[in-house]
Amino acid sequence: MIPEPKTNTSPLIWLIAVPSPLQEILEYLPPENQSSDTPIPGCRVAVTFAGKPRIGLFMSARTSQLQDHSKLRPVIEIIDNGPLMNNTELTLLQWVSDYYLIPPGETFALGLSPGERRGQPPKAPKPNAVIATDLGLQQYRSGELQRAPKKHNAMTLLSTGPVAYEAFGSAGINRSIINELKKNGLAADTIVAKVANKQADSTVRHEPNREQEAAVASINNRLDEFSVHLLHGITGSGKTEVYLNCIDHVLRLGKQVLVLVPEIGLTPQMQARFEARFGDQIASIHSGLGEATRDRLWSDARSGRLKVVVGTRSSVFANFQDLGLIVVDEEHDPAFKQQDHPRYSARDIAVKRAQLTNVPVILGSATPSLETLNNARAGRYKLHTLSARASGATLPSTQIIDIRQLALHAGLAPLSIDRIRSTLARGEQALVFLNRRGFAQAIQCLDCGWVGECDRCDSSLVVHQQPPSLRCHYCDATQAVPRHCPSCGHHRLSVKGLGTEQLEAVLRAKFKDTPVFRVDSDTISNVTVLHNTFDHIREQSSAVLLGTQMLSKGHHFPDVTCVVVVDADGQLFNPDFRAEERLLQILVQVAGRSGRSEKPGEVLIQTRQPEHPLINQALTASYDSLADALLLQRQRLKLPPYGGLGLVRCDSQRFEDGARFLNDLKSKLTPQLSEGVKLVGPMPTLMQRRAGRYRHQIIVQASNRSAVHRMLYLALQIGKSVKSARKVTWFVEIDPNEIT
Ligand code: ADP
Ligand code: ZN
Ligand code: ZN
Repeated sequence: MIPEPKTNTSPLIWLIAVPSPLQEILEYLPPENQSSDTPIPGCRVAVTFAGKPRIGLFMSARTSQLQDHSKLRPVIEIIDNGPLMNNTELTLLQWVSDYYLIPPGETFALGLSPGERRGQPPKAPKPNAVIATDLGLQQYRSGELQRAPKKHNAMTLLSTGPVAYEAFGSAGINRSIINELKKNGLAADTIVAKVANKQADSTVRHEPNREQEAAVASINNRLDEFSVHLLHGITGSGKTEVYLNCIDHVLRLGKQVLVLVPEIGLTPQMQARFEARFGDQIASIHSGLGEATRDRLWSDARSGRLKVVVGTRSSVFANFQDLGLIVVDEEHDPAFKQQDHPRYSARDIAVKRAQLTNVPVILGSATPSLETLNNARAGRYKLHTLSARASGATLPSTQIIDIRQLALHAGLAPLSIDRIRSTLARGEQALVFLNRRGFAQAIQCLDCGWVGECDRCDSSLVVHQQPPSLRCHYCDATQAVPRHCPSCGHHRLSVKGLGTEQLEAVLRAKFKDTPVFRVDSDTISNVTVLHNTFDHIREQSSAVLLGTQMLSKGHHFPDVTCVVVVDADGQLFNPDFRAEERLLQILVQVAGRSGRSEKPGEVLIQTRQPEHPLINQALTASYDSLADALLLQRQRLKLPPYGGLGLVRCDSQRFEDGARFLNDLKSKLTPQLSEGVKLVGPMPTLMQRRAGRYRHQIIVQASNRSAVHRMLYLALQIGKSVKSARKVTWFVEIDPNEIT
């Protein structure tokens, strides 16, 4: 074959974001046999990538910037007539790709529903009403239908306009009649604007108090410009009520609202409250839904039919027609940070999204993150304080129990048992907080000291009884419980470190006539189970609630008046720079479950470190003063929010491969270091081995985030050409949650 002569003219190409590990948007030729116009940015196209069919997103057209045009492939077809994302959403996703260093093709896919990513058409909305056709009206008016009285009846109603499906029942019209009318072409499905349902009456509204009023007014006054509002209210101060009032206002302007919550567990309760107020204009999107439902909700939000989306972190990428407000509830929660690929912070993206959309964003918390608090102190965020419990309830009284000299009963101090008992005797509920699931933390041989450890991780195996097994909580490896010590053969095996499974058994034995509810990831397999458990709890009078962090967050149990924190110390020995902030937040949040209604509450904290200021003052000093002390520490150490932080992390089969790669990378990065940027490491992470792989990291520290970003960007570029990279898997992360 004769090679084609080289031309100087570059062909016109389309830039397509195709999901792939490549850090770039790819060039394709326009489709071959299509006289079609150039699509609008945000339309999907079908292409091939590495020989396989892929769905990509059209970005723009231009002339090719490649030297060699021979490898350019044509777009196979244009899938959508109109874009699935608006320009602001495209800009946001581009920013996410740039800032978090996520390949653009993968980032843009985050803006699509699961089905849309596979090329399915956007889900059509579910019809919610029926309308009479012209034929139907004609036959009705001519009196033709009077021979069929039921049909005639139904048409009488339909002749007045579209009728919502749920209205037929109360009108005494059977569904089968409607179906028949539809079959005969006399009526058809349609969609009507959703209306708040009837439960939304004034009984669920509260007259806002002065502080709530001030917050609502300040937010509602500036709905057409970007602003960040920190709603800092103690637990039970009526933050949700403030959100509801602002949302109400935004809906009246015909706009939509995005509400982000940290975990699915929180959505049902919140959704119930939102539904009571806004009817079916609201829906929650989370991973517990089937794909078809997610597809439909995604497209309903995009078309503007769905007015309020309550969702977990990935909902920050949902498409909206006219977004008017963003709310991030419990903004301090680590769950807003996605811990594996693609790594991003939904809270931070929410703020960016509000900025690009020119709308306000509300960050709500009783225990704001130090970053957010610092932004408020610096005047970048507007601070609104709710200083009292809205229902008039007082904050619980606290007591620190020094357990060093005490004889404990299954981890519980006599005083704790005593208080649980008197709480139950009053017909109220006690909440016992233990952040360790399983029966016991480890199994040990009393003769030789052997401890059951995971073969693949640097971690002891957790003893479970239901079913009896030893399980690794890091890699899910499971083993049978040995009868003899595998090391010395003796029988004297014992367990140590109390877990929720064991404590549950103890509490059941101790409080025989009282129901005990254990809430942890072993008992709660999905949202429905959680929802049902919470319903049961609220139906009970006296009960013991026992649980991990799952129980500490956001929930409202009106009858809980006593909270016992079984072991507050674990987190104190965590070397991570955020450990103290987290401990403070957990303690304040757990304590906040107590005495949320009229009845006064109490909190007991069991500790072996009663002098430690965090334990000691967590519940007596104000959150702000303790947070300020932690901020001073961060300032001294130049840690966030007073400096940027990033990671290069790598996993390898053999220990030395990871160390070698990071050393090679570091030596290439070092000449490029700008002033004030430090590379710490490489070093193995605190837990060196997980699931059979060794983990190493370099910490990137600088006075600001953009300097860290520049370094990570370089690392990503340079790392690809480092030979030793072939034996490892690695990634870069900006603003990591933890660096141990
Ligand atoms: P938070 O979100 O701050 O934890 P909530 O909004 O859930 O607080 O309010 C706590 C309780 O106080 C709820 O039962 C709520 O119905 C009630 N509440 C909120 N605002 C008021 C108010 N202005 N007057 C009376 N009760 C209120
Ligand atoms: Zn032994
Ligand atoms: Zn393991």
